[in-house]
Amino acid sequence: MKLTPPVILSVATTDSGGGAGIQADLKTMTVLGGFGVSVVVALTAQNGCEVAGIHQVPPEFAVLQLETVLKGFPVKSAKTGMLFSSEIMEAIAPVLKKANLPLVVDPVCVSQSGYKLMQDEALETMKRYIIPLATLLTPNIPEAEALAQMPIATHDDMEEAAKRLIAMGAKAVLLKGGHAPVDNSDTITDWLGYPGKRLVPYTHKRIETTNNHGTGCTLSAAIATFIGMGDSLEKALPKAQKFLGNALAEAFAPGIGAGPPNFLAGAFSLDNTK
Ligand code: PLP
Repeated sequence: MKLTPPVILSVATTDSGGGAGIQADLKTMTVLGGFGVSVVVALTAQNGCEVAGIHQVPPEFAVLQLETVLKGFPVKSAKTGMLFSSEIMEAIAPVLKKANLPLVVDPVCVSQSGYKLMQDEALETMKRYIIPLATLLTPNIPEAEALAQMPIATHDDMEEAAKRLIAMGAKAVLLKGGHAPVDNSDTITDWLGYPGKRLVPYTHKRIETTNNHGTGCTLSAAIATFIGMGDSLEKALPKAQKFLGNALAEAFAPGIGAGPPNFLAGAFSLDNTK
């Protein structure tokens, strides 16, 4: 019997370097057994060392892509990545809202190499238009600090920041610990929060590598894919962490600068049946 893979949607920006953004999303969705479709809201001229330019798509054309994809495919789940501007966010939000899909929102603000991937004024638009649509919001610590408008140094700070992000309308929040001060060199803990509940730890192995370009994109795309395949969030999250860990353990640099996770190796060493 031929199986038709579930259709998973990425609404994000391209990375000409192939390691982050839409390219990371589509590779992740494919190796995990989904069928990736995409709405390109902007393009970057990028390699492992620099983001040399960002070119936004006209918002009405982003909307046309989104409407056309939703009309033509039984999309099971979606993620948003780098949305770049208020214009794009305001244009796509009503269409995403109407589609009423499980939605993982990765609030991409700044690249690990220090380039701004979201316009400053778009932070408020993200809070108002995009975060309320999130089944899961996946900020790293600097993104959570920017969105919640508070410094995060202690666990109580994380609880407070998660509360603030959930008050913006996200149904769940994953505070990713990769940027937290190193407390145990062997592990990283990501914290999952729901309305009215204390944060739950999801600890995974720390993989030391400089080839960590596109890790946030890859994790959110993997979570969206597993959810689209029918997993609960609690089941999808550790599987996505494991996939990313496996992929980072085998990461290589295909060009200058930071390389991406090794998508294929990540999926090969994953037991998808658990
Ligand atoms: N480029 C694009 C298009 C992205 O979406 C992202 C992250 O979401 C990046 C670059 C930055 O990737 P990183 O900070 O992991 O290097």
